[in-house]
Amino acid sequence: MKIICIGRNYSEHAKELGNEAPKEPLFFLKPDSAILPKRVPFYIPEFTKDLHFEVELLVKINKVGKHIEERFANTYYDKIGLGIDFTARDLQGECKSKGLPWEKAKAFDGSAVFGKEFIDKSEFESVQGIEFSLIKNGVQVQIGNSRDMIFTIDQIISYVSQFFTLKIGDVIYTGTPAGVGPVKIGDKLEGFIGEKQLISLDIK
Ligand code: ZN
Repeated sequence: MKIICIGRNYSEHAKELGNEAPKEPLFFLKPDSAILPKRVPFYIPEFTKDLHFEVELLVKINKVGKHIEERFANTYYDKIGLGIDFTARDLQGECKSKGLPWEKAKAFDGSAVFGKEFIDKSEFESVQGIEFSLIKNGVQVQIGNSRDMIFTIDQIISYVSQFFTLKIGDVIYTGTPAGVGPVKIGDKLEGFIGEKQLISLDIK
């Protein structure tokens, strides 16, 4: 499987990092080795001094597709999840300033955290109205709603599938809202979709 991540999909977050809102979806990949195994803590890697959390809604692909039209995109997924896209912000800044790819900063081992389960999309009134949040050490640091996405889930699926064949089990990180920030050893992150807790992660 592959993990596709959308960058700058919430304008308030693009702004907080000094980026313009994109005119078309910006995406990058994480390998499957980036997935943090379930029920293990996250160890801050030694190569970064500025490790950031980004809480994001996830979409799990359930059908093989290529060149998917936007109006059919909703038939290519039936589950929504929650994840953290861990980012070595210092390395990312270095890559950006040199015009280099971001993988070193975004795709390292453990950088893709998945919540404990995916939720059937039929449980939501609309996939473009899902509230999600992240709490760090008991304080809410990020809150977002999929209605504020610059590109909707269907637009993302349609766009990405022009370049990559989507396969069953592929996961899309749909972008993070404002409020990203650093973690340090001893922190605890808790992620929610609505009231439902899906992530509980100790930082070591
Ligand atoms: Zn992200």
